Amino acid sequence: MRYKFDRNNLCLNDISNARASISIQEQGTGNMKLTPFFKEGIQFECQGSGKGCVSHGEYGEVYMTLEDRKRMAKDLGMKLAPFTAKYCHQVDSVWALKPNPAGGDCIFLKNKKCSVYLGRPTQCRTWPFWPDVMNARTWKKEIASFCPGVGKGRTHTAEEMILAATEQTESEKALRQERAENIKKARRS
Ligand code: SF4
Repeated sequence: MRYKFDRNNLCLNDISNARASISIQEQGTGNMKLTPFFKEGIQFECQGSGKGCVSHGEYGEVYMTLEDRKRMAKDLGMKLAPFTAKYCHQVDSVWALKPNPAGGDCIFLKNKKCSVYLGRPTQCRTWPFWPDVMNARTWKKEIASFCPGVGKGRTHTAEEMILAATEQTESEKALRQERAENIKKARRS
């Protein structure tokens, strides 16, 4: 899943608000205004269309934290350094998967399917429950109308979605830390 990494802003607010809203609702205040749109859960199941794995607009990178690189390298039976050299490049001082030179899509998208599904990066595993799209407007405009998996398969609970969004937020934090370290390293060399 391609992502736009905003290196300056953490996306914790929506998730904190969502947690607060759920807890308020569970306490019986009935404050519907504060209830997140996904309180009742959302049906989602990947349809294997590969639509999220092709380059589109500003959502154009598959970012790789150190943990993501380690996991995928292991999944492919490779050591970290050769894996990174072969499949990754730095974008704005963080690691991302190299695009397919034939067209810019993810290099691991084969016949419209992910060829590294078990070892796929965090942003692919947490899709479509990313913090910066978990608001009613963006969800309707950019996610439900774009991703064929929305509305299909099992219903994910609000708690599950919050867990996925929290994992994505932690991954973004790790990317920011790695970016700062990479910049320091580049300055020293
Ligand atoms: S790693 Fe797999 S799921 Fe992620 S963008 Fe590439 S093909 Fe898609």
